[in-house]
Amino acid sequence: MTKNIIDYLQRNKFKDLDIRAVLFDMDGVIYNSMPAHEMSWQQTMKEWNIKAEPNEFFAQEGRPAKFAINLLFQRNLNRDATEQEVKEMYKRKTELFFEFDTGELIPGINETVRIVQEQGLTPILVTGSGQSSLYERLNRDLPNVFTLENMVTAFDVEIGKPHPEPYLMGLEKAGNLKPNQALVIENAPLGVESAHKANIFTIAVNTGPMPDKILLDSGADLLMDSLHSLNSAFPKLFELMKTQKI
Ligand code: CA
Repeated sequence: MTKNIIDYLQRNKFKDLDIRAVLFDMDGVIYNSMPAHEMSWQQTMKEWNIKAEPNEFFAQEGRPAKFAINLLFQRNLNRDATEQEVKEMYKRKTELFFEFDTGELIPGINETVRIVQEQGLTPILVTGSGQSSLYERLNRDLPNVFTLENMVTAFDVEIGKPHPEPYLMGLEKAGNLKPNQALVIENAPLGVESAHKANIFTIAVNTGPMPDKILLDSGADLLMDSLHSLNSAFPKLFELMKTQKI
């Protein structure tokens, strides 16, 4: 892990890390909701006669719905979707999502937030999701972790992942932190790309079917196969982050 930290510092020309906050992605990091997203998008596309690749929405994860729909429309029909089409498809997808979603958490997340809070770090949520009941749901499943003030959601961002905008807003919400004062926990290629472009130390946790290589190629500074592995690595990682300087 020493090399991962040194490489990060050298690439970004930072002298050291001074971690104050942890920016959490939601789908695939907090909730095991990606299988339901994949299934509901696949079925929606089928109903509109739009062909999607297997695992297409795992690959597109994090991209705002409008842009993901347009990408598939361009590939299938050589045109963008109309606003009406986007609205209707998103509505149908949301309906199916709530039918398929189990609401289960990613194993280990309770321990992850406990460690983060014990370290005195501020947990911040950075998601492209725009569910209206997001806050209530999070507060029920992970009580007293996220507040309305420390959440970046679809309602806050204009461009969305893979642009760095959402994570830059996360730094702002954490108290105008610099990129070397936070770390990101992500599971998806476009989310990793977004955090990487915001110059934040990015931990990819591969909780889905995508090959590890895609997460590393997207700019992950560290790769973990589960939150359990990350939780075990945390004490050493935090120690190294405090001591490694260039
Ligand atoms: Ca995600």
